[in-house]
Amino acid sequence: MHIQFHVDLDPEISLKKAHSIVVAVEKKLLEAYPAADILIHPDPKGAAEAHGLAYFSSEKKKQD
Ligand SMILES: [Zn+2]
Repeated sequence: MHIQFHVDLDPEISLKKAHSIVVAVEKKLLEAYPAADILIHPDPKGAAEAHGLAYFSSEKKKQD
């Protein structure tokens, strides 16, 4: 299983703090999904352009 998402964080916190938040979230997810491959992308809240795959940037839900 692959889990990947963006997380909006306070743009004023340090990289060290952002990293510790991401690691804490990753640990929580691994408790529920021990075999998961997890990629969490930290974004500065309110200061990041939309990016990544169009599917993930869109407000609309695609129907597969
Ligand atoms: Zn991002």
